Amino acid sequence: MNFTRALNNKTKILCTVGPAISSVEKIVALIQAGANAFRLNMSHSSHQTHLESIRIIREAEKQLQYYVPIIADLQGPKLRVADLGVNGGINLIPGREMYLADTEYVKQNKLSYDEVIPITYPTVAKDVKIEDAILFDDGLLKVQVIGKEGELVKVVVINGGLLKSRKGMNLPNTNFSQSVMTEKDAIDLKFAIENKVDYVAASFVRTASDVLRIRKFMQNFGVTIPIISKIEKPEAIVNLEKIIQVSDGVMVARGDLGVEISSALVPIVQKKIISMCNAYFKPVITATQMLESMIQNPRPTRAEASDVANAVFDGTDAVMLSAETSVGAYPIEAVTYMRMICSETERELHLDFHTIQYKTASKEHKTDAIASAAATMSSDPRISGIATLSLSGETALLISKRRPNAPLISFSEKIETVRRVGLYWGTTGFLIEQVTTTDQTIEDIKLMLVKRKFYQAGTNIVITIGRPLQKKSRTNMLSIETL
Ligand code: PEP
Repeated sequence: MNFTRALNNKTKILCTVGPAISSVEKIVALIQAGANAFRLNMSHSSHQTHLESIRIIREAEKQLQYYVPIIADLQGPKLRVADLGVNGGINLIPGREMYLADTEYVKQNKLSYDEVIPITYPTVAKDVKIEDAILFDDGLLKVQVIGKEGELVKVVVINGGLLKSRKGMNLPNTNFSQSVMTEKDAIDLKFAIENKVDYVAASFVRTASDVLRIRKFMQNFGVTIPIISKIEKPEAIVNLEKIIQVSDGVMVARGDLGVEISSALVPIVQKKIISMCNAYFKPVITATQMLESMIQNPRPTRAEASDVANAVFDGTDAVMLSAETSVGAYPIEAVTYMRMICSETERELHLDFHTIQYKTASKEHKTDAIASAAATMSSDPRISGIATLSLSGETALLISKRRPNAPLISFSEKIETVRRVGLYWGTTGFLIEQVTTTDQTIEDIKLMLVKRKFYQAGTNIVITIGRPLQKKSRTNMLSIETL
């Protein structure tokens, strides 16, 4: 593992796991190419497959001595067309009138799929209104509600084509009465808790109370895994600030978002979400179709390269690969290109954190003042790095969000913290075996940085720490140390 390179990789790359990268060797190669975190997409695959993915990622960590967070991405109340059986599809002809109904109703009443499209949405007839749009298959097909007859929803086809089994469905104008946590999500969340994932991503969040409901579910199991709220519903944009306040991180989930709102609005919404997350010190991931053409091709398009670069310029902490790494033909190349684009962009990135109107800071003012000072000092060419002893990861996040010039190495005794800080911009987590006195821990950190060849002896770095450590003091001290 080339740690010198890894320390200087600022924007984090989150890779979705799947059959294309299902071995320890591939995960190792991906991390060496610049990957920093992995996503289990709970919408697909069995628990057994996810368990194997967790095993190979943890094995890769051991081999590299480099820790990476795993995010379990819950499916949420995703609406789909039901399994249409061997016929495989229903032809939607523009202008044709048809019906939609929940699968159970269609089956019980033995209705023909050609007349009534079966969908996984028990409350559809209750929720929709006349003129609501219903979109299928990433918005490629569109019908409009023209009537309701009991459990049946009458629609007219606007944009036609072949509607295939299990395709996703979006209802941008409908007030959705389904809960943010489905039965499947509860089972998947229990799996995520039992297998100690580092983050949980919540899909189709609409309000802050959706996030709190998921947190309460976890608290019933005695755990608090950080929650990343995926912003992909128009209601979530309306409630954005409150959602950000109660979340531990946010994902700009541009796939569903770009169907639920006009894709013309996605770039502006992306900028707003990222800047609000930065103001609230919340890690933010920009996701979906970033290098989409690399599912089949060994090189990205110019537009894709620009998209990744612009997310970095917007101030994102992380960029995500979906099918590019899970099922694509070129997963390593996709990470390599993404890393190259991020690195080239970071060279020109001059985010001035002094201009950000921070909304909240650490309740411990000393910690926040020190984080701010450490970031400022790292612009001095005589300072080559920042090391922080951050047991919870909070100091690391407060520094990271100031976009320090020098690499940030965040030490913790807790493996969970070491992994989680891996999602923070410019931050590398490092495990410290034992925390003793403040002075001794500073010496231990200095020795480790040289021994691990992160820096040469004689280099100046900033260290932040809490004193006295034995009383578990929060960060309250900053020192310039020569290694
Ligand atoms: C998205 O919609 O952009 C997204 C990231 O979610 P999923 O991959 O679950 O569709």
